[in-house]
Amino acid sequence: MTIQLVDASITFDGVEKVEALKNISLTIEKGECLAILGPSGSGKTTLLNVIGGMLLLTNGEILVDGQALQQLTNSELQTFRRTKIGYIFQDYRLFDQFTVLENVMLPQWPYQAKATIEKKAQTLLTELQISHREKAFPSALSGGEKQRVAIARAMLHQPDILLCDEPTGNLDADNRNNVMEILEALREQGITIIVVTHDQEVAKRGTKELFIRDGELVLPNAKVN
Ligand code: ADP
Ligand code: MG
Repeated sequence: MTIQLVDASITFDGVEKVEALKNISLTIEKGECLAILGPSGSGKTTLLNVIGGMLLLTNGEILVDGQALQQLTNSELQTFRRTKIGYIFQDYRLFDQFTVLENVMLPQWPYQAKATIEKKAQTLLTELQISHREKAFPSALSGGEKQRVAIARAMLHQPDILLCDEPTGNLDADNRNNVMEILEALREQGITIIVVTHDQEVAKRGTKELFIRDGELVLPNAKVN
């Protein structure tokens, strides 16, 4: 899916006003892997949440395949998030009381037949080389294994866009490379990937790098493959 931001701005109204995003304009093409770099508090997570339809803009527009997210009803937005968006996080966010297989199935449990999602979940776990752990609980897994489970969960509904918030922040070099290889393989399947990272090594593997500071785009820097 093509994602287009036009003068996208978000102001949080608290005790103090925070302009978390200021007039961001950019286009992310289908099948791109965009790396977003920037200091802590610069607006990276806010930007991911805007793209995922979790946060609505205060000003400006976000268009996904030409559709303005602001114009969707709440239930259309929910459907957008549930069908088009996958999300992975630095801290994995698995549910400790459920097994690996159950964790992968959980988000789709209310929407699809159990046998169908179980089969899909097992296929994904096999592809991600973690199927031997399907009956384990998250507490028994390494960080790299947990992130592979989280990727399987994010991919179960075959999203068009995968949002990754510091996905390798807690991983050692080997596991970081493994996660990046998985993301690259997904990108080759045509999935649009957006990776927030502090890690130059991770950012270099994207198709494009983008820097944010204080909610502003600093240096859109297209790379030639
Ligand atoms: P990053 O992910 O780059 O560390 P964030 O996008 O989380 O930064 O935050 C950007 C700025 O917006 C920060 O100053 C943060 O404190 C503020 N912020 C984020 N979410 C909220 C919120 N829900 N309410 C108020 N301020 C927020
Ligand atoms: Mg963040």
